[in-house]
Amino acid sequence: MKRKQFIKTSLLGGLSLSVLTQLAFNPFQEIYTREELIGKDNSDMIGLKFLMKTKAYSSFVTMQSHAYKAKVAIRVVSGYRSFEKQKQIFENKYSLYLSEGMSPKEAINKIIEYSTIPGTSRHHWGTDVDVFDSSMPQPESILEEEHYYNDGCYTKLKKWMDENANRFGFYEVYTNNPERKGFKHEPWHYSYAPLAKPMLQEYRNLDLKSIFEEENILGNEHFSKKFINRYRDENILDINPELI
Ligand SMILES: [Zn+2]
Repeated sequence: MKRKQFIKTSLLGGLSLSVLTQLAFNPFQEIYTREELIGKDNSDMIGLKFLMKTKAYSSFVTMQSHAYKAKVAIRVVSGYRSFEKQKQIFENKYSLYLSEGMSPKEAINKIIEYSTIPGTSRHHWGTDVDVFDSSMPQPESILEEEHYYNDGCYTKLKKWMDENANRFGFYEVYTNNPERKGFKHEPWHYSYAPLAKPMLQEYRNLDLKSIFEEENILGNEHFSKKFINRYRDENILDINPELI
């Protein structure tokens, strides 16, 4: 067992059944802590303008240089995002919507059209990025679906990513499959599968309800068990099957 893995395992204060199963099948499987999975530990990440886990970052930079040869300049709007940052985003929107007269439930449902509940963002993992093409004239608001299709400014980037991203380990998360539930289509959001897949497996073992309570997320008293289960099944797990 690697030293780092040993320390992480010790910190867990006890091994879950799934961890033991993973170790039995693959002794080199990385083990992820609760803190890493909910955006409270970025110690294993590198980067200047944005952070990613080392392995994901290195593959991203290689992909970037290949794209550059095709005159596509992949740039990142958002890489790692901390728990605190996501909490700020969520709570600001929640307060705003309530002040506009929405009920707590309406506000929460409106927020989760595009934003995640803190502790559940894939951006917490250092494996996911939102990308655009910096070689193009920039629109006022970058992350809009229309820019990535038809005569939009990022159509060339999108086409290049569709044809090449997978061989660098990157997959679109929120695809345009009309059957898919959860978050709306995000043609800009890609995830590094070699790390994100095992992280999602570990993530499935977390008790979301107690995390929302422990972290005092504004409005969490309105998250019913049914709501959390639906959020888990649709927003967290109804994604590109390549990432499951
Ligand atoms: Zn994103």
